[in-house]
Amino acid sequence: MNEDRTFLIIGASQAGGWVAQTLRHEGFEGKVILIGEEPYLPYERPPLSKAALLGEVTVDSTYFWSQETLDEANIETQLNTRVIAIDRNVKEIVTEGGTRMGYDKLAITTGARVRELPVEGADLPGVFYLRTMENTLAIRDAVKDGTTAMIVGGGWIGLECAATLTKLGCNAIVIESADRLCGRAVTPEISDWMLEFHTSHGVDVRLGTGIEKFQGAGQLERAVLPSGDTIECSVAVVGIGVIPNAELARDAGLEVDNGIVVDDRACTSDSDIVAAGDVTNHPNALLGRRIRLESYENAQNQGIIAGKAMLNKAEAYSELPWFWSDQFDANLQMIGLPKDWEETVTRGDKDSNEFVTFYLKDGVIDGAISVNNPRDLRIAKRLMLGKKQVTAAELINPETKMQGLLKR
Ligand code: NAP
Repeated sequence: MNEDRTFLIIGASQAGGWVAQTLRHEGFEGKVILIGEEPYLPYERPPLSKAALLGEVTVDSTYFWSQETLDEANIETQLNTRVIAIDRNVKEIVTEGGTRMGYDKLAITTGARVRELPVEGADLPGVFYLRTMENTLAIRDAVKDGTTAMIVGGGWIGLECAATLTKLGCNAIVIESADRLCGRAVTPEISDWMLEFHTSHGVDVRLGTGIEKFQGAGQLERAVLPSGDTIECSVAVVGIGVIPNAELARDAGLEVDNGIVVDDRACTSDSDIVAAGDVTNHPNALLGRRIRLESYENAQNQGIIAGKAMLNKAEAYSELPWFWSDQFDANLQMIGLPKDWEETVTRGDKDSNEFVTFYLKDGVIDGAISVNNPRDLRIAKRLMLGKKQVTAAELINPETKMQGLLKR
């Protein structure tokens, strides 16, 4: 009987919430306790740099499940609670307050934290990061029409934040240390398009430079660049990547290598502990390699697999990575994590901000990025999964019906 067992989940996140819900969907009747460091129930992160920053949504509306829904499912939550250790010998976790809680099975869904900017003045009031609801609410409070906002990092957070702050009437300045935007995720041609797109919407993008230091008397007043140039600003938002919160697992002796190492069923090197979401390093059979994915879909779907794994019901997890981003009036979507592609080909018109760029390798699509064309991206995903042979000439030709390529 399940009834006596206690399953703990460290991390009241999207992944953690899905672990808990899955346990109930699968009929587990024992105790399910979701432990979270933040004061909030599991919430959606995509609005943090968009609708929540614009002030268009309430905190409650970002919750995946309301308190009532969690109560109905008999999922207990312990918020404002930081777990500092996992004692695998006695199967207990230890909280910062010194409380010990026993578990029969444990899920670690601790996600990732922001990489901090190691420069003088980065601790001045006015310098923010954007990862949590608290961060978003603080930035929202600090900006107003006409604020000059320095955005450090031209990745997803930086670009979404630049678009949103521009909409709020701020002067957004993006500082990116690489020579192109979103360099880790997209091709140089897409980086060029992003630069042109953001510049045309009034964002001041500075490539190939970092921040030397921030200055101000008790509050951010200016940023100093390595060139010696200074930029007056009262707000800075830093988005220079994240680090997996894998220390708890590492200190407990679990295998950790750029995240908690799990198998395709979300199981760690301890048979009583699973892990899911941004914090895991997991195998992906479709890509033929191990990856750590910072993505919405992965947090949900690997969370579901981890919940099933706690009940010994998991099937192998392998999905094509998919991401999306909304910046001004552009909806970007990406599938795959292309590596070593042979050529790229663009279908549609970059100037009208509606196109898809495909990455081709060995005559099949290895990945794709769309701007305002989710339909062709969905078809590209099916072509990828079916390993359908396609040519650059076919894809580029506007007369080619994408749907028709699926019939091969
Ligand atoms: P990111 O996408 O990795 O981008 C960080 C950017 O900052 C990179 O371009 C990086 O360049 C640059 N950078 C690093 N150090 C810098 C420095 N000292 N000065 C200036 N630039 C620097 O990470 P992020 O934008 O912070 O996002 C954090 C996480 O949230 C990621 O997991 C991301 O996927 C996720 N997120 C996702 C979405 C979405 O899917 N729509 C939206 C927002 C956030 P190098 O690559 O050269 O280091």
